[in-house]
Amino acid sequence: MKPQTLPNGPTDAKARRQIAPVICYPTDGLPNPDMGIINAARTSLVKTDAVIVPPRDARCFDVPKGHFFRITSIEGSQVGDLNLWSAHDLTEHFYSGKTRALHGTHLSTGDRMWSNFPHMRPLATISHDTLGWYGWDDDGGSVHDVIGTRCDPYTAKLLGDIDYHHCCHSNLIRGLAAHCQLGHAAAEPLVHDVLNVFMCTGFTKDTHQYFMKASPVRPGDYIEFFAEADLIGGLSACPGGDCSAEHSSDQAPCFPLLVEIFKPDSKDLDRFSYLPKSPYSGTHQD
Ligand SMILES: [Zn+2]
Repeated sequence: MKPQTLPNGPTDAKARRQIAPVICYPTDGLPNPDMGIINAARTSLVKTDAVIVPPRDARCFDVPKGHFFRITSIEGSQVGDLNLWSAHDLTEHFYSGKTRALHGTHLSTGDRMWSNFPHMRPLATISHDTLGWYGWDDDGGSVHDVIGTRCDPYTAKLLGDIDYHHCCHSNLIRGLAAHCQLGHAAAEPLVHDVLNVFMCTGFTKDTHQYFMKASPVRPGDYIEFFAEADLIGGLSACPGGDCSAEHSSDQAPCFPLLVEIFKPDSKDLDRFSYLPKSPYSGTHQD
């Protein structure tokens, strides 16, 4: 992190700092999902499948294009780490960094989850979020971030010299391996940076370090997604529980998460325009 006491800068340091910021990726030209169509489709949902994600573990689930999936808090306040893959090509997956660059550090209703290069298309749109009321708290925190990565055994080893096998990274490896009949070594490179579902996070105002605080989620709260491609989802019920204190251990109270898949009346979606994969030529040269 940057030092708190800075050396003297150039004579025009103040002027350089006072330059007004501009948004890196203005979203005026971003094709927005038609939320009117999505909301209309939400009125005709029929549940087709449900999966319980056990505490400190992960499960994968299939979501056909045009279906919805909903992650619901049950039993207690619990954070989930979400991965999304194209069901037809596991190397196409959610790209948290570009999603953050386009939509900001925390996602909510109407934001899209984009896939990695060279695909770069929306894999899903958030269709409903019962924690949308939270907004930003006085610490600069908010819910559902795309700034953290996922808790993992490598960082736990580095910082605490422990071998802990139920970090979200490891949980997602086991979940994907079981779902797709892969070995752990083949599944590990496919696990990627997550959407931190229900997690309340931000950056400290002094050192700008990533912080977490107890999630405001309560049983019955949910976040719901509209699948814009045939998807495999992976969800880990983080060993941090509500992430109020620590993760990468069995110390925190942890609870299961419920994933439900819903099929809408397809005629509701006839007019929805699914974005194709990026039409960029891919030649990287003139
Ligand atoms: Zn975790």
